[in-house]
Amino acid sequence: MTAADILRCTPRFWEFHLDSIGAADVATFTLMTIQINLAAGTLVPFAENQLQYQKLLDQMLKFEISAQYMLTEVGHGLDAKNLETTATMLPNGEFDLNSPGLSAAKIMPPSFPVQGFPRVAVVFAQLIVSGESRGI
Ligand SMILES: Cc1cc2nc3c(=O)[nH]c(=O)nc-3n(C[C@H](O)[C@H](O)[C@H](O)COP(=O)(O)OP(=O)(O)OC[C@H]3O[C@@H](n4cnc5c(N)ncnc54)[C@H](O)[C@@H]3O)c2cc1C
Repeated sequence: MTAADILRCTPRFWEFHLDSIGAADVATFTLMTIQINLAAGTLVPFAENQLQYQKLLDQMLKFEISAQYMLTEVGHGLDAKNLETTATMLPNGEFDLNSPGLSAAKIMPPSFPVQGFPRVAVVFAQLIVSGESRGI
């Protein structure tokens, strides 16, 4: 699967999702769709113009790294637009990621750390810049 397949939803992209082999091992198939659709699918439009993301995207597409997707929170499932986790921009340009309480916890079983098994996650959060809330 290439970035172009994901971005343009090519026939190869649909063939993968419609292949009935997915029914043979639903857990594996779910992880593959999280990797390709949710994690890489979120990154692809940004990686097109921002070269710093391309290496990570390449690792995701080759399954060299396990990619997870952390949108929903314990207290915010289908109402994910009200998620509580914040990403506060610091003066040096880095971000302070904070889940303020239990209802803001993002707990996806495949995102648990496993020694020697590289993982990355796309984390959705409320963006705070200079004290101003700028949305998710
Ligand atoms: C196989 C699978 C994998 C997943 N993987 C991920 C993942 O990797 N990352 C991720 O971020 N999320 C993932 N999710 C989604 C997430 O974890 C939640 O399951 C999903 O968002 C539903 O949230 P909830 O269970 O809290 O349900 P709720 O939001 O509590 O909704 C339950 C039910 O309450 C009712 N309801 C809720 N809100 C309203 C409303 N405003 N008005 C009327 N009725 C309402 C509806 O009937 C709804 O069906 C996954 C889900 C599945 C099924």
